[in-house]
Amino acid sequence: APAEPARLGPAAPLAFNLNEAPLDERKFGTVGAVAVDSQGRLAAATSTGGMTAKRWGRVGDVPIIGAGTYASNADGCAVSATGSGEYFIRATVARDICRRTAEGATVQAAADAEIAEVGSIGGDGGVIVMGKDGVHAFSMNTSGMYRGAVSSTSPARVAIYGDEEGAR
Ligand code: ASP
Repeated sequence: APAEPARLGPAAPLAFNLNEAPLDERKFGTVGAVAVDSQGRLAAATSTGGMTAKRWGRVGDVPIIGAGTYASNADGCAVSATGSGEYFIRATVARDICRRTAEGATVQAAADAEIAEVGSIGGDGGVIVMGKDGVHAFSMNTSGMYRGAVSSTSPARVAIYGDEEGAR
């Protein structure tokens, strides 16, 4: 008799529900980067799968320049954002942070003020910001944001939770 074909056993049950927010927070699947080169030229990039269970055809904040992504050599600022895109669009988060830096705020103060503003209208998330002098900032109103920083003069630093100072 021919050999029995190999059978796959029943799939192991998932240890978690893919559609459910883990604990008290949602995870945003965005990858973003901001950079400044030796000439002071700034760049920002953001990529995302959007939000879980998003409506067909939804366009989030990520591809909207000024909402989830923005860089301006004139303002001396580059921003990439992650979070509940509808609110980041309403608050024009990335552009606003650059306006704040152009008006004299540090990148950290600009980011913190803008995250407070998006939080005040109901948005959750965070931003990474680069200034023209190579000083960067992270700001978030979630319990964490996977993040890292590296430069030609400093070693790579990474952090996950909001209160970690590792990548400040
Ligand atoms: N900002 C993204 C969006 O609203 C989601 C994310 O950051 O993961 O599409």
